[in-house]
Amino acid sequence: MARRTYRGAQVEVTFDADLCIHAAECVRGLPGVFDRDRRPWILADNASDLDLIAVIERCPSGALQYQHSDGRTEKPAGTTTVTPVENGPLLLRGELKVRGVDGTDEILPRAALCRCGESKNKPFCDNSHLESGFQAPGTPLDHASR
Ligand code: SF4
Repeated sequence: MARRTYRGAQVEVTFDADLCIHAAECVRGLPGVFDRDRRPWILADNASDLDLIAVIERCPSGALQYQHSDGRTEKPAGTTTVTPVENGPLLLRGELKVRGVDGTDEILPRAALCRCGESKNKPFCDNSHLESGFQAPGTPLDHASR
């Protein structure tokens, strides 16, 4: 998986496009920082460090992560939670070690895992549930990521 780095004066943001489920928490939260139509699409200095960190920690998939220049980084939630999204993936929060199909482990504070069985990036969600018309009860995505 290719994680790209976007450096700001105080906060370094990293992004893994393979994990992003386009929940848009980032562009809704800080449109001046996150703009899919701009290159680079992330400008970390267009918000305060605290606002930026708060929005990154709402990214449900773990695609966005950060490292502060003062050494701060995300502390995983103490209790691991698993939330099924209505017609969508399982959202996890906690100190996660997710093993890929190639046997490599990824340490993440948040993850969206496939529930429909159609993802081409298992165990992660790749939004295939939208095309396959997967239906299952759960929490609406915009509530599940809070
Ligand atoms: S909040 Fe995370 S999952 Fe949602 S669009 Fe932004 S990077 Fe992708």
